[in-house]
Amino acid sequence: MNSIVAIVGRPNVGKSTLFNRLIQRREAIVDNVSGVTRDRHYGKSDWNGKEFSLIDTGGYVEGSDDIFEGEIRKQVVLALEECDIIVFVVDVTSGVTPLDEAVAGLLRKSKKPIFLAINKVDNAMRDADSFEFYNLGLGEFYTISSINGGGTGELLDALVKEMPENNEDEEINPEDELPKFAVVGRPNAGKSSFINALTGKDRNIVTNIAGTTRDTIDTVYNKFGFDFKLVDTAGIRKKSKVKEDIEFYSVMRAVRAIEHCDVAILMVDATRGFEGQDQNIFWLAQKNRKGIVILVNKWDLLDKETNTMKKCEEMIRREIAPFTDVPIVFTSTITKQRLLKALETAVDVHKSRSNKIATSKLNETMLELIQNYPPPAVKGKYVKIKYCMQLPTPTPQFAFFANLPQYIREPYKRFLENKMREIYDFKGVPITIYFRQK
Ligand code: GDP
Ligand code: GDP
Repeated sequence: MNSIVAIVGRPNVGKSTLFNRLIQRREAIVDNVSGVTRDRHYGKSDWNGKEFSLIDTGGYVEGSDDIFEGEIRKQVVLALEECDIIVFVVDVTSGVTPLDEAVAGLLRKSKKPIFLAINKVDNAMRDADSFEFYNLGLGEFYTISSINGGGTGELLDALVKEMPENNEDEEINPEDELPKFAVVGRPNAGKSSFINALTGKDRNIVTNIAGTTRDTIDTVYNKFGFDFKLVDTAGIRKKSKVKEDIEFYSVMRAVRAIEHCDVAILMVDATRGFEGQDQNIFWLAQKNRKGIVILVNKWDLLDKETNTMKKCEEMIRREIAPFTDVPIVFTSTITKQRLLKALETAVDVHKSRSNKIATSKLNETMLELIQNYPPPAVKGKYVKIKYCMQLPTPTPQFAFFANLPQYIREPYKRFLENKMREIYDFKGVPITIYFRQK
């Protein structure tokens, strides 16, 4: 399981600049593909082969110019409870402020690894100014410049040293392991109602079990011919209202649940449509290469004209392009409409996720297609794809070997992905395509 790193600190010290720098390399590409700009404060990154999730807690504080000590305090307390590693950012140009001291006070009490990053150290002159931050009582610090990238490599080196080795076993999911499903979505979409309808238990009764916030509890589900584990981050149980109100908290919950599952069941509120937050969760599951099923819940509340379902489906498919062959099921936890269909669909997606295509068949089909629609020539050079194979990874990933792989552009990659989706059954399953030198 990947570590979750939280960036905390008062407004304007450069948290989001640092966040963007740390996730930049891969995020930008994904966004160009989908053509969607997302206001995002969490992402995935990797350094020295270790993947981790990153959350910019500051992104969730309203009105960043006003300093709400209480708000920041809440974010820091939550980050300490829910995340594995904390990066505390301060601003060298303003020196130690009372709010920095307040945050440091909270952090000093924690046993979690804390990294003090002194930001805006854009030049050596400012190095000298950083010593006063020893007064925060957090020990060693890292001087960085989020704007020009200075020092961020050293910070990352230190961060990943704190992270456990990647545990691939979790992904491999041997045959005796049950598939793991997680129900995720915005607050009030109907997740608890769905889980209650399935398990017949009222989870809302279970509250506040101290010390277990980080752990997940998987419930084995075995009814109506279905056999799977329901991934429950402790957060799925309703906690104090304060926590529920903090968007950052629901994001945390989703990050954890998604990382633990094989298939994410994304529940959307039909009365609200497919919103930014839904899109973010979708993206998160896709990025983690999890199977995805979308449930449009509270279907009972909609006035249904002949085309309502079709229109709603088209709208969602537009939002999730280019990964459009995700199953969409219209449910109601109140009338119990299609709840079993939802599970059936999740099981199907899980099966497709372990599809393996024989190399000979894959080459036969794809090479012929590629011959008819080759990648466009670049600077007069012809790009030839000679061979392809599915990689022996737990989720569908493919390598295409070419003479000039660096010349193959995103649209062609998307074309191949779309073709593969048409030909093979990868409904609801993210697939990854690599081009390699042959
Ligand atoms: P946040 O509120 O903590 O997320 O802070 P932002 O990332 O929005 O940054 C606040 C301001 O500080 C912006 O104007 C940034 O351009 C600036 N800033 C961030 N990092 C650096 C840095 O390393 N050096 C300098 N000189 N300015 C920075
Ligand atoms: P969660 O925050 O995603 O776990 O959402 P809840 O399960 O707590 O549901 C939020 C509210 O929506 C509750 O008042 C539910 O009774 C209601 N609700 C959930 N599912 C449905 C549904 O399918 N139809 C209708 N009409 N209401 C629903």
